[in-house]
Amino acid sequence: RVQTKWVSPKFPATELALHNFDTSYSKQLRGLWPSIRVAMLCEQKYGALINSFSSAPNVITELERFNRARTCCSSTQYKSQYQMSCFPKGDISRFKPARPDSSGILGYYLLDAASVLPVLALDVQPGRTVLDLCAAPGGKTLVLLQTHSVTNDLSGSRTMRLCRTLQSYLPKEFLDENKIHITSTDGRQLRMTEEKSFDRVLVDIPCTTDKHSAMVEENNVFKRSRTKERQKLPLLQTQLLLSGIQATRQGGNVVYSTCSLSQLQNECVVQQAISLAQQELGITVQVQDLRWFAQRFSDTFHFAPQLSVGELILPHLRANFGPIYMCKLQRMN
Ligand code: SAM
Repeated sequence: RVQTKWVSPKFPATELALHNFDTSYSKQLRGLWPSIRVAMLCEQKYGALINSFSSAPNVITELERFNRARTCCSSTQYKSQYQMSCFPKGDISRFKPARPDSSGILGYYLLDAASVLPVLALDVQPGRTVLDLCAAPGGKTLVLLQTHSVTNDLSGSRTMRLCRTLQSYLPKEFLDENKIHITSTDGRQLRMTEEKSFDRVLVDIPCTTDKHSAMVEENNVFKRSRTKERQKLPLLQTQLLLSGIQATRQGGNVVYSTCSLSQLQNECVVQQAISLAQQELGITVQVQDLRWFAQRFSDTFHFAPQLSVGELILPHLRANFGPIYMCKLQRMN
């Protein structure tokens, strides 16, 4: 008698991700989901973050004259400056790869333009101490770098990637001056060593990275072998946010951000961390209003209709940035 062993069919992780999204997001986002789904499966749009450390002449003029890109976000109110160029809504042109200046420093960094918004929300100013709790590969770190920053990531290999990014975009003297401290530890442990140490903390968390999971097999958290890791994400996210809150000084701000549409990883984590901070640590935190962001940046990005806490940038065929969720908190005591 021949015994046949039943083997579960191997579905690609991208298919498992889409199945999961269809089930949960069609309930959460209702009528918005079909068009967001189409956008998530189309090519992502990029913004060019101008590197203020580069001495290449006329980077912005070149981008804006020869392409149809224009400045979409900038912060020039402080001594620190960041400027981002992107193509207008409906224009799906691509940026050329950045060229190095005479010292090898690249003129701009290409990233999802919406991922700059959590850094803008953090409102970093010179003289403020900043902790970037989950920093690799370093896109947001580059935006933060006008300040004295501490950047940390659990993964050693990803921290090496962060170092390579910084070497390509920052002059050697800047790195030598110790303006930035790079550490590679579990962000959950920092609550003990760094209690009340920072004016600003960015908690740009590991999440289901929805666009990546829907499109790319490699390093996909929806692989069957990573089911447990994926299910534990909301717990890890809550612990890291609590750690970020503990590392913040009284009156300081924490920005929590993900690149997922999931309510469980977004609003639910924030609400859970706020109540645990109060009950278990006696720390009161208040959610800060970011509604003005949606008004200020509605020309470039599509924002979700009002959420219970925080703001969500939705992928859209005419402006295919995101998803990015962000919520700003202030530590009161
Ligand atoms: N902020 C980065 C950027 O803009 O380029 C992206 C951060 S990525 C979404 C999340 C990071 O969290 C990953 O690099 C991962 O290695 C790191 N991570 C995961 N668990 C962590 C932990 N327990 N402590 C610190 N970092 C962690």
